[in-house]
Amino acid sequence: MTAYEAAILDVDGTIVRGDRLIPGAADGLGALEDAGLSTLLFSNNPTRGAGHYRNRLAGHGVDVDAGNVLTSATVTSEYLRANHGEESIYLLGEDRLEAILEGAGLTVTDDPTAADLVVGSIDREFDYGDLERALVALDRDLPFYGTDPDVTIPTDEGTAPGTGAVLAAMEAVAGREPDAILGKPSGVAAVAAMDRLGARPGHTLVVGDRLDTDVALGNRAGMTTAVVLSGITTRADLEASAIDPDYVLESLGEVGSILREGTE
Ligand SMILES: [Mg+2]
Repeated sequence: MTAYEAAILDVDGTIVRGDRLIPGAADGLGALEDAGLSTLLFSNNPTRGAGHYRNRLAGHGVDVDAGNVLTSATVTSEYLRANHGEESIYLLGEDRLEAILEGAGLTVTDDPTAADLVVGSIDREFDYGDLERALVALDRDLPFYGTDPDVTIPTDEGTAPGTGAVLAAMEAVAGREPDAILGKPSGVAAVAAMDRLGARPGHTLVVGDRLDTDVALGNRAGMTTAVVLSGITTRADLEASAIDPDYVLESLGEVGSILREGTE
């Protein structure tokens, strides 16, 4: 028996790194399942939907239900459907995100003078004209959202600019911050996760490799948090950070030790 009812797991840097399953990840997932926890995978990747992660993990022999996967793209599309369902979105972001938004029944427009709201996200073809058009929309005082705050993202070559870098450019020209950034660690993201899990935050464990998103989400929501050192965070980062996880694990493979500690 364990005191935990549910777990929210990050994906990149926690379960997989690039094309590889992280050693111990399958054991960790098995330990959570054996302990009877409901498990939700939550990626801040704004260019992928749930099906991508189901298929990617199936390729590693790990079965997950797409209904138990959230991404910052799916959280953003759910939030926009609930709050701006009939409105037109000016998107500074990638085609895959546009397809996810449109697949959720939302309308995306290329015309910044016709938009009702603005969404910023990673765009690996970002250029001056994109920023100029976004400024036209932002100058109209439209609601302004970001998909996720990640300023950099890990790649096979090292580190690349992420959504946070694009949002910083948009903020600089508009002279204002986004009204909300919807991925981890936002309150919107925490509510989306708890709605899926149907568990109590005080009995939910969050495991991820980033302090400023994974651990921050859990700490804010009153969950138990664990950082894994299999991704972006090093021991030196941990010492320098004001964000403290409850547990530090070398990898997800050690998650069973937390479940046993939560035993009563
Ligand atoms: Mg990660």
